[in-house]
Order: sequence, then structure tokens, then C-alpha cells
Amino acid sequence: MTKSIIELNNVKKSYAENHVLKGINGEVHEGEVICIIDPSGSGKSTLLRCINQLEKPTDGEVFFNDEDLAKMSEKELSKLGEEIGMVFQSFNLFPNMTVIENLKLAPMRVKHLDDAEAEKIGMKYLKRVGLADKANAYPASLSGGQKQRVAIARALAMNPKVMFFDEPTSALDPEMVGEVLSVMKELADENMTMLVVTHEMGFAKKVADQVWFMADGYIQEKNTPQAIFDNPQEDRTKEFIGKII
Ligand code: ADP
Ligand code: MG
Repeated sequence: MTKSIIELNNVKKSYAENHVLKGINGEVHEGEVICIIDPSGSGKSTLLRCINQLEKPTDGEVFFNDEDLAKMSEKELSKLGEEIGMVFQSFNLFPNMTVIENLKLAPMRVKHLDDAEAEKIGMKYLKRVGLADKANAYPASLSGGQKQRVAIARALAMNPKVMFFDEPTSALDPEMVGEVLSVMKELADENMTMLVVTHEMGFAKKVADQVWFMADGYIQEKNTPQAIFDNPQEDRTKEFIGKII
């Protein structure tokens, strides 16, 4: 087994009386692709936010590279933020900047690269997602699939240790889903560590090393995609898998 990158130890999160995460345990190792699936609204985004420090868990521990997040200094936490690349459903590109400007922003502001270095890195990742020819385009002129590929390139330009994808294809027209999933599959093939919240069961089956089935505030079952989809053990998982296939 490779090195543990993320470890979740009985992580809980409540908003007032709404107990969203009731005790999440799990481990993500270097190079692993974890797909999180659920029936709906089980707290997947909340879980990602508890790991990347956009939320503070109500209870439990989150370790990143064996370091307890609760014990990290401000400086270490901001470094941690740089090590997690985020891709959201809604792209979140800056509309008033060109594609390449979107990619250069964080490397220049956060990592203090100069313009030429940031340009070089930006172009490298734009090529990687097949959009080098869109460098000077504005986001509004791109299709949804292209915007999401730019968002992936922008996250990669920070050279993250882990990539989080929060329903990256949910906002896309069906014909654009494939191009985004294939970029993600290439990343997985290159051994990127990935935590992917998705309803694309085909992707989860093909690409995930582990599938976590979340419901009612817990990870009800985690196993290989074959086991989860073909031979689920828990009643809650059986019910869900029975409905989707
Ligand atoms: P998912 O990503 O699985 O759809 P979320 O993590 O977005 O689910 O939300 C799970 C639950 O947590 C929902 O009931 C939602 O209303 C609640 N929730 C999420 N974020 C907040 C917040 N910032 N304040 C209050 N409630 C929240
Ligand atoms: Mg969500």
C-alpha cells in the first residue's frame, strides 16, 4: 500500500441541528482514485470542505500527509490549500480574464512565479487538456466542457498533490460529459491522487480504485467498484445499486 495522504477519523459536521456528517472514516493513499457516490444530498461537498479547510469539522480528525489539520499553523494550512486542487460543478472561472490569465493567476499570486514562468506552466496544462488554442479566449466563448477542462488545467497549474472533483460533470450537457471524464481518466492513469464526487457510475466502475457509498451521514460501504456494483453487502447500498441498474 502506498503512503496515506488523507485520513479521516470519525469526522462529524453539524449545522445547528442538522447532523450532516455523523462519523466518517476513510483513508486515501497516494495514487488512488476514490469515487464518492450517494443517493442525494448526503454531505459530499461538506466532506470535501472539511478536508480542504473551507469548513471546520464539529468533531473527529482529518490528517493530511500524516499531519493533524487541527494542529497546523496558519502557514501550514495555507500550504495545504495549495496542495489540494479543486474542480467544482460550476467551473468558477473569472469571466473578465482570458483562459491563460485564469491559469496564471494563482501561480503568480500564491507561488510568486513571474509572468513568463506562469505562462509556460499555464500553456503546459492547457495543452494537456487539449485547449492550447483557447489560451486567449474568454470563458464566455467556451462550451461547458471546455470551461471545465480549463478549470482542471487551472487546478493542475498549482501542481497539487491531490485533486478534488465535486460533481464536475453535473452541470454539463450530456454530449460534453465524455471529454471531461476522459481528461480525468488520463489524470488517473498518470497516477494522480483523486477524490471524485460523481453520479457517473460508468466512470466510477472503470476508473475508481475504491468507491465510497455515502448515505445518512455515514460511509455505508467502501470497496472496489466491482464489489460495490456487483456484490454490495449493506442493505442501504443494495437498495441504491438496485435502483440505478
Ligand atoms: P451534497 O454535496 O452531498 O449534495 P452538501 O454537503 O452540500 O450535500 O449538504 C448536505 C447538507 O448540509 C444539506 O442538508 C445542506 O443543507 C447542509 N449544509 C451544507 N452546507 C451548509 C452551510 N454552510 N450551512 C448550513 N447548512 C449547510
Ligand atoms: Mg455537493
